[in-house]
Amino acid sequence: MTRPFNFSAGPAVLPEEVLSQAAAEMLDWQGSGMGVMEMSHRGKEFISIYEQTQSDLRELLAVPPEFSILFMQGGAIAENAILPLNLSRGQQTDYVVTGNWSERSQKEARKYCSVSIAASNVESNYTSLPKPASWQLSESAQYVHACSNETVHGVEMHTLPDLKSLGSKVPLVLDISSHMASRSIDWTRVDMAYGGAQKNVGPAGLTIVFIRNELLGHALPHCPSAFDYKIVADSESMYNTPPTWAIYVAGLTFKWLKKQGGIAAIEQRNISKAALLYDFIDASSLYQSRVEKDCRSRMNIPFFMRDEKLDAAFLSGAKAAGLLQLKGYKTMGGMRASLYNAMPVAGVQALIDYMRDFEKNQA
Ligand code: PMP
Repeated sequence: MTRPFNFSAGPAVLPEEVLSQAAAEMLDWQGSGMGVMEMSHRGKEFISIYEQTQSDLRELLAVPPEFSILFMQGGAIAENAILPLNLSRGQQTDYVVTGNWSERSQKEARKYCSVSIAASNVESNYTSLPKPASWQLSESAQYVHACSNETVHGVEMHTLPDLKSLGSKVPLVLDISSHMASRSIDWTRVDMAYGGAQKNVGPAGLTIVFIRNELLGHALPHCPSAFDYKIVADSESMYNTPPTWAIYVAGLTFKWLKKQGGIAAIEQRNISKAALLYDFIDASSLYQSRVEKDCRSRMNIPFFMRDEKLDAAFLSGAKAAGLLQLKGYKTMGGMRASLYNAMPVAGVQALIDYMRDFEKNQA
């Protein structure tokens, strides 16, 4: 069976090998007589899945020992509240606003602490990135939050900000939901990073938090216990029942990633896939990318046509050609192609072929 190419922004395409293995093991995981969904999270079978998934993720992303990796629930939107509950101490925090998701983060944080906007690109309609040297950082901030890949606006920080070199000691917290595991992370620049799994990693329901251990243990008294990073870390993400199925599928994805050559290899492939599509868009007179070249996302590529009345025909033709979920985000219109790790080069090529034919037919 050949499957259509799926460009969804999330939940999104997973490697076919991962889905096939999950299907094959659905009723009986490795001779245990149980499917993973049916196992106690405290049994030796699931503990072995959990430990392998943790260690493969740590190895893939070269996460240093001074960081804990937490498997939580609630998605990145819940983290928008969980983060200030844990790290703000009810005091001042800095937020960098570069698109839909970081805008939502700062809004939610205001329920728990005072928020200062250190930088924003709203004036460019979220099509550029404010340079870290221009961020108005306050030394008294408990942390500075940014979203390193804005899924809706298609804006990505290709280099993570080096705040220490700018003289700031404030911890940097990143929402990495939509490019987690698509490229390497320089952990010397980051103090915490979080994201939902449902883009590059696995099913919805799992939120992964990477946190420097020295930041643990400062939750506000009214922080729910299940969301207190220290409690979650001390209990190896088993204070409450973790999302076992999602952790298992994430583990299969990490094995798949290792087989692809690891993060360095997948990052190179992601760079080439995105370049194929952006180069085609830039050369076309029908399609347009609105994001400045130095911060175009490799994962989420919004594009627009000269005449938005063509969108419906474009999308229905795409679906008929086996190219799914290309509709742009509700507030953006136009189209968006998400090219996550599991999107093969052949999928990007098929999209470009379809776009070229569609353009010819408009001539
Ligand atoms: N942040 C980013 C960057 C996202 O892409 C998303 C989901 N599209 C969210 C936050 C919200 O994630 P969730 O719905 O899993 O809470």
